[in-house]
Amino acid sequence: MKTQSLHKRESQLANSKRQLEILSNGIFQNGELPTFKDKIAETNQFPLKAKKLEILQINVGYMCNQVCEHCHVDAGPDRQEIMTKETMQQCLEVIKNTGAHTLDLTGGAPEMNPNFRWFVEEAAKAGIKDFIVRSNLTIIRANKKYHDLPEFFKKHNVHVVSSMPHWTRGKTDKQRGDGVFDKSIQALKDLNAVGYGKDGSDLRLDLVYNPSGAFLPGDQASMEKDFKKALLEDFGIHFHNLFAITNLPISRFLDYLIASENYEDYMYALVEAYNPSAVAHVMCTNTISVSWDGYLYDCDFNQMLQLPVNSKAKHISEYNEALLEGRNIVISQHCYGCTAGAGSSCQGTVA
Ligand code: SF4
Ligand code: SF4
Repeated sequence: MKTQSLHKRESQLANSKRQLEILSNGIFQNGELPTFKDKIAETNQFPLKAKKLEILQINVGYMCNQVCEHCHVDAGPDRQEIMTKETMQQCLEVIKNTGAHTLDLTGGAPEMNPNFRWFVEEAAKAGIKDFIVRSNLTIIRANKKYHDLPEFFKKHNVHVVSSMPHWTRGKTDKQRGDGVFDKSIQALKDLNAVGYGKDGSDLRLDLVYNPSGAFLPGDQASMEKDFKKALLEDFGIHFHNLFAITNLPISRFLDYLIASENYEDYMYALVEAYNPSAVAHVMCTNTISVSWDGYLYDCDFNQMLQLPVNSKAKHISEYNEALLEGRNIVISQHCYGCTAGAGSSCQGTVA
């Protein structure tokens, strides 16, 4: 059966409060497993504090041409939350003045925002060192109007980061939908054709792997080798790095865990794999996430759980790096996903 967003299904989990209740109750309430707060307190890492801002991550909308099984955004074609040009203008003011070295545009499919190209053109002028767009690849092949995206990305020296859960059709389509693999391969070829992903090329193309079930990712470096070999041999495709990301137990992945009766086992696995040395490097310590309506969050996951930043500056219009630095980060049990094994962030492992 085709996946639908939790919102479309009118699932209880479409409400972030319900997700937070699940993450706070049961095995965490009865003491079977320690809360994340108690766990990090064991090594004197509570409260978790933000350090200097390095990455500004902007979510320009939850609309997407795909409806992947494990999406933490609960994105899909039915989602109407889209950043307006006015909010983009406010973001641009911040982008011009920020000390952050990385700008990271995400969604949904960010390209579906009607003002996406204008925003990229304006943002690129700010000359931020690393300008990332998280593209789901299939959008490039979804409609003629997107076919020139590789050239557009090249023109603005955008660093493309794309999900690719496996090098085989079966595993990719199972997680991301029928036909996604073939379109993704074609899109990668299109990106390679304009120079992305080649050895020595400044046009950065990285792929993101996330597990297709209730298990943690394997070793990032060895998976990268396997992906490179398979994609080159089977399709002649080149890319730079592979980021291995742990699925966090929120939104559609939480729904999947509960429906498949894997929720408790998965939380046990995350807690067992807890790595105290990953805590200092979780992405919220150097990132601010901006939602489609301009509100500020510690990360994209907290955005989806509607857990706003613990700061007087709550909206992009009130943005103040000095105020945000040193804030206490808002945590819950989903944070175990960032500290399992080698740790996990939008840039892959952290420890
Ligand atoms: S492509 Fe990304 S944003 Fe869209 S449904 Fe899949 S995981 Fe979610
Ligand atoms: S989920 Fe967000 S707040 Fe929690 S540790 Fe990860 S990045 Fe930080």
